[in-house]
Amino acid sequence: MNIFEKIIAGEIPCKKVLENSKFLAFHDISPKAPIHVLTIPKKSIKNFNEITPDLMAEMSDFILEVVEELGIKDKGYRIITNIGTDGGQEIPHLHFHILGGAKLKWGDLI
Ligand code: AMP
Repeated sequence: MNIFEKIIAGEIPCKKVLENSKFLAFHDISPKAPIHVLTIPKKSIKNFNEITPDLMAEMSDFILEVVEELGIKDKGYRIITNIGTDGGQEIPHLHFHILGGAKLKWGDLI
């Protein structure tokens, strides 16, 4: 099991923001912005390459609930999903990073 699967199974603790039967949102252990939350499906999906339209639709609804819960919906935020080696994906379980809480810079991509 990878780290996120262990978090879903309750074997590793997380700082939970929101959860429902299909998705979980929790604070990133190494935040890159004042607010840095990860949203993951409970179903094992490696990355965005394997996403389906239904899952993407449900994930979008869940992310919108999360940003409302975090109080950043109107001020703005950034969503990132890393895919594979060149994308910098470390954990092979689909996750969307939600970054906010400050005016984010754009750059330093390589
Ligand atoms: P990625 O590089 O897109 O695969 O992102 C993986 C993210 O998971 C990184 O931002 C890590 O800081 C974060 N991370 C790793 N382990 C944990 C953990 N136990 N709890 C919360 N976040 C974690």
